[in-house]
Amino acid sequence: MADDDLAGEAGRAGAMTTRIGRCLCGEVAYEFDGPMLWRAHCHCESCRRNTASPFTTFFGVAKDSYRFTGRSPSVYHSSPGVSRHFCANCGTPVAYESARWPDEIHFYAASLDDPAHFEPERHVHYEEKLPWIHLADDLPKIEGAYDPEDAGTG
Ligand SMILES: [Zn+2]
Ligand SMILES: [Zn+2]
Repeated sequence: MADDDLAGEAGRAGAMTTRIGRCLCGEVAYEFDGPMLWRAHCHCESCRRNTASPFTTFFGVAKDSYRFTGRSPSVYHSSPGVSRHFCANCGTPVAYESARWPDEIHFYAASLDDPAHFEPERHVHYEEKLPWIHLADDLPKIEGAYDPEDAGTG
């Protein structure tokens, strides 16, 4: 059952590994069971400013399959219906929730304990990519969000 070779494996429905992640100082941590619902690089401005990085990499998890462990994260509401969780001690962004995806929470791939074991599926909000980022992968590069109902943030 401990199928932990590749995120591509863990991402498949039915894989029931528990994975963990944490902030820089380690006070805020999370764990989740079951599959990642999707895995994407996001180039939108909100993610860029939130992480102070040219783009960030997210994955979605069902709300009933994760829990925070350790200190509870603080929450910043960047717009109505949006909650951005972060560590009040070290400032690391930890998770994103939006009323648009009421059944999901989004975590940052780089916060995983084993971030090398991750397989992004696509780029989203690619039209907002900074011109000095040059990418050589052959992943799909999508304008806006992947979900056609969502034209907003990711
Ligand atoms: Zn921290
Ligand atoms: Zn975004």
